[in-house]
Amino acid sequence: MNEQANLPRLSIASLGGTVSMQAGAPGGGVRPKMGCDEQLANVPQLREMAQLEVATLGLLASASLGFAALLDVLAWARGEVERGARAVILTQGTDSLEETAYFLDLLWPFDAPLVMTGAMRAASQPGNDGPANLLAAAQVALAQGSRGRGVLVVMNDQVHAAARVRKTASLAMAAFESPGSGPLGEVVEGIVVYRQAAGRRQVLPLPQRTEHCVALLEACLDADTALLQAVARLGYAGLVIAGFGAGHVSSSWSEVLDELAPTLPVIVATRTGSGPTARTTYGFAGGEIDLQAKGVHMGGQLCPRKCRILLWLLIGSGRQQQLHSWLPR
Ligand code: ASP
Repeated sequence: MNEQANLPRLSIASLGGTVSMQAGAPGGGVRPKMGCDEQLANVPQLREMAQLEVATLGLLASASLGFAALLDVLAWARGEVERGARAVILTQGTDSLEETAYFLDLLWPFDAPLVMTGAMRAASQPGNDGPANLLAAAQVALAQGSRGRGVLVVMNDQVHAAARVRKTASLAMAAFESPGSGPLGEVVEGIVVYRQAAGRRQVLPLPQRTEHCVALLEACLDADTALLQAVARLGYAGLVIAGFGAGHVSSSWSEVLDELAPTLPVIVATRTGSGPTARTTYGFAGGEIDLQAKGVHMGGQLCPRKCRILLWLLIGSGRQQQLHSWLPR
């Protein structure tokens, strides 16, 4: 009997990133080189776990991925599940993983898991983590407990929720965290252990509009207002500010927002890296009570980058009026 035929179907695609990188000429650094097949060759166990469907969808550094490319990746991944895949894995660069995962999570309509992973060390570096991350990603993808959790990021044997995960270290192997909540689960000796049952998910329809842009500015000490004032003039459809502390800006930025917020959706999130924005604590000019009175939305638990993804997708499907209900406290 063909034992392979009894194994679940698992679709794996690669987009590039360090996990696909190798060194070339001396001094030239590492660059994306390995397609998905080549990456999988270093993890022979995968073929004993599942029938693999393999695709190389890109060979990019993840800073150069974009929304249009992600919509294509999404279409491929949806097609795989519709054709019977039990789960889908994507490998990509870690630099933008916290954003791409959340983008895809907001649009992922299935119970079947979409698991994303990468590597902090290139394939040509000693101790590279790509193969171990791929194996853990497959264990997570095939685990029954992963169903209904949307897009999951698996790095360093931890399983993170797309809405919470952040890259918090530039080069360390343990570069991913879910500040405040911690990871959803862990891979222990090949077994996936979740701390909590899957919660209810909200998903958006595919955007009908994709040409619009959402700006992201960071509030910082003694910042002038020139860029802030230019946002409306430059035709941005929305604005996210990475605010001080619990979601604050200077009094001069607050004055500009008084004029801007009635004309386009504005979110102020926190630039601190952890914790929610406030809603009812601070009453100074530029504090959250003042900002909300001007029509500004507070980012809640979402980091500024994820706020920008959310706002872009909401505008894309004409749902910007629903923004408030998508910003978790
Ligand atoms: N350092 C990055 C990585 O981990 C490069 C990238 O994001 O493509 O893959």
